[in-house]
Amino acid sequence: MWLGASIVSEANNGFKWETKEFNGLDYVTLRSIKEFYYFDDIRYGSVITLEKTDVKMEVRPGSQQCRMNGVLFVLSHKVIDQNGRYFLSKTDLIKLVNPVLRPTHIHSARVFGIVVIDAGHGGKDPGSLGPYDNEKVYTLKIARLVRDILQSKGYRVVMTRDSDVFVSLANRVNIANKYKNAIFISIHFNSSDNAGASGIETFTISPVGVPHMGRGVRAGDFQTVPGNVMDSASIMLATAVHSRSLLYLSNDRSRNNFRMNDRGIKRARFDVLTGIKIPAILFEGGFLSNRVEARKVHTPAYQQALADAIARAVDVYRTSITRR
Ligand SMILES: [Zn+2]
Repeated sequence: MWLGASIVSEANNGFKWETKEFNGLDYVTLRSIKEFYYFDDIRYGSVITLEKTDVKMEVRPGSQQCRMNGVLFVLSHKVIDQNGRYFLSKTDLIKLVNPVLRPTHIHSARVFGIVVIDAGHGGKDPGSLGPYDNEKVYTLKIARLVRDILQSKGYRVVMTRDSDVFVSLANRVNIANKYKNAIFISIHFNSSDNAGASGIETFTISPVGVPHMGRGVRAGDFQTVPGNVMDSASIMLATAVHSRSLLYLSNDRSRNNFRMNDRGIKRARFDVLTGIKIPAILFEGGFLSNRVEARKVHTPAYQQALADAIARAVDVYRTSITRR
């Protein structure tokens, strides 16, 4: 069976997937997905909606956009429309849809007690330059706030840095890989030449065969990297952090509404995602190159809401993988 152990090892023996190959890649019909996951309904249009109790999944033919329960994901491959039959890539089925719809089936996800918090940049590396402060300042502020909350909940927290020092990417990877029952959260803020660019986005490791966001496929993309061992767990962790952040920033305790643009959950081959063997994500908490956004990021209310969201997401993730 071509779908791999993650799906067929369960009690669905005999299920017949409708499959097809396009450009050397395996795809499966949306109708198969509807049947396999027991969706009650599928509605076709410029947006295709699959729905059942508590789950709504939306895709756009010809697009890489996918929404599951309101959270935006960027698919590894576009949804294909072939004469009114719609296809999703096998990679997106196994590496995105299945872990998000059935988190308790992620066998690689382990119970964890340690959270490695990675404040991006530091020391001689300021990261993105902002009008009020630079990225390295905000990443450390948020990291410390997250640490304090997680420690009060009983987690053990490891910081890759706790002061304004330079830590190489290789060292960040080494620190994370010392721990087995742990997860890794890297905190960053964005920058763009386009002053209007805005919003939050979350990255997890690209599955095998999928390039770094925004660039073409390279030969190395077909090799399994250490980060791929945990890629299903990582997409769950990303979903928790991304969705909580959107929620908390829209409705934080001080009644601000920071209304952040949702740029989605994306795939990348950043060094920390490639090299780390525990579930790992890289979160981008807003654009310092955007003056309006930089002002939000600079406020203590924004920083606290973001830290609360990340800490809450750790609980959400833990619950989702342990409810078996
Ligand atoms: Zn950064």
